[in-house]
Amino acid sequence: MNSSLSVYNSLKGEKQVFESIVAGHVGMYVCGPTVYSNVHLGNCRTFISFDLMYRYLKHLGYKVRYVRNITDAGHLENDADEGEDRIAKKARLESIEPMEVVQRYTVDFRNIMAQFNALPPSIEPTATGHIVEQIELIKEIMEQGYAYEVNGSVYFDVLKFNKDIPYGKLSGRNIEDLIHNTRTLDGQSDKKNPQDFALWKKAEPVHIMRWPSPWSDGFPGWHLECTAMSRKYLGTQFDIHGGGMDLKFPHHECEIAQAESIDKTPPVNYWLHANMLTLNGKKMAKSTGNNILPKEMFNGSNEVFKKAFSPMAVRFFTLQAHYRSIVDLSETALEASEKGFNRLLEALQTLENLSPSAATTDFDFKAWKEKCYEAMNDDFNSPLLIAHLFDAVKFINSVANQKQEISEKDLEDLKNLFNAFFYDVLGLKSTENDGVKDVSQLEGTLKLLLEIRDQARASKDFETSDLIRDALLELNIQINDAPEGSSFKIN
Ligand code: AMP
Ligand code: ZN
Repeated sequence: MNSSLSVYNSLKGEKQVFESIVAGHVGMYVCGPTVYSNVHLGNCRTFISFDLMYRYLKHLGYKVRYVRNITDAGHLENDADEGEDRIAKKARLESIEPMEVVQRYTVDFRNIMAQFNALPPSIEPTATGHIVEQIELIKEIMEQGYAYEVNGSVYFDVLKFNKDIPYGKLSGRNIEDLIHNTRTLDGQSDKKNPQDFALWKKAEPVHIMRWPSPWSDGFPGWHLECTAMSRKYLGTQFDIHGGGMDLKFPHHECEIAQAESIDKTPPVNYWLHANMLTLNGKKMAKSTGNNILPKEMFNGSNEVFKKAFSPMAVRFFTLQAHYRSIVDLSETALEASEKGFNRLLEALQTLENLSPSAATTDFDFKAWKEKCYEAMNDDFNSPLLIAHLFDAVKFINSVANQKQEISEKDLEDLKNLFNAFFYDVLGLKSTENDGVKDVSQLEGTLKLLLEIRDQARASKDFETSDLIRDALLELNIQINDAPEGSSFKIN
């Protein structure tokens, strides 16, 4: 292969050749979801983007430790350290334990990511599981003189830090702009300056998510968990940190400040940011209601699109755009992706049944392979890789139609590489066991059985009707007979 992997490093504002700290190994941290509601398709797009990177790094032979956290405490409604904890608020509104909220939406998240065929990370740590580490981190930051305590809460002193180490490197904001643009404190706040951010917040008496600390019974600030967990599992300096573009500031900027205040060295070599999924031209977001849940997409129950789309069609749709470009979700684009995905699937089948036909091949396999790797090595350019796969599809179909020829060796190599890109790198799979189609097929079959049973009952053929009822019951499918017709329930 001629090219090597380059990635767009948000910290430098340019593409750089990727070199890992330890040869052959990659440490990658990605900010995970705040589990106070179901993930929407925008969140999923970001996690699919990092799944693509994880898969490609593994494909290149790296041993990757991929850490993606679960934020189950500390993320307040408002990024300026104000408002209620998102999870505590949901628990209050639903009159359930905060950990029930966490459990429900963590399970939902994992389930959805599995449907998208995203690989689970190597470690999936939680904020509440790392309170001790976060308290230790605060002590270290205080020892360095970059944090102060007021009334049981601890804040990071951004102005003091900035005197020694520049703050704002990642988001390109300088401290003067920040001072100018941050609204002044309203007198209620304990902060010395509005730019400061919370490391520890004293819990109000009503706040149920609280832990003891040297400063108060309280809870950690949102930015702290990622520093604590990335340092713990990947070390004080690691290769890749990722998240959605909207996390650059303040979240990632604060992570950098926290780590640098102790270690005096940049914690991360490459910062990668995935761009936003929009709906009707606006960012998909939980808070505005401008969003679609994955399951509403898979079962067609959303109000935006007329038909359902399978997890693989949606995954393919996200991969057909580069992870750094904004993508708008539209029915036309989804339909085109669904068609394209099916064309690739069919080509895989055709390729499997293809026979070699000549000593030479009417296709420059070596050049094609180079182009595929060049695409992925150019900052994970999956849309370009997919375009190259479609070039191969044309050739595959024309061999199948006996218009072109392929040698035995090239056929073997083409099969291997096409399969590797389709399954391992793009993380696609056949929809046989998870598609929308399958649910409707199953439903159709059951309805047909019920009809046959109804007809048997009408003609007093109770042997047949009982046979169907008992056989279904063994499969945990219960038939309910009612005057208006029978129905089934899957137990
Ligand atoms: P949250 O649960 O809000 O912390 O978000 C989880 C991840 O989803 C973060 O990396 C966000 O940047 C990302 N995200 C949120 N909204 C969108 C969107 N509309 N498109 C793509 N990624 C998003
Ligand atoms: Zn984070």
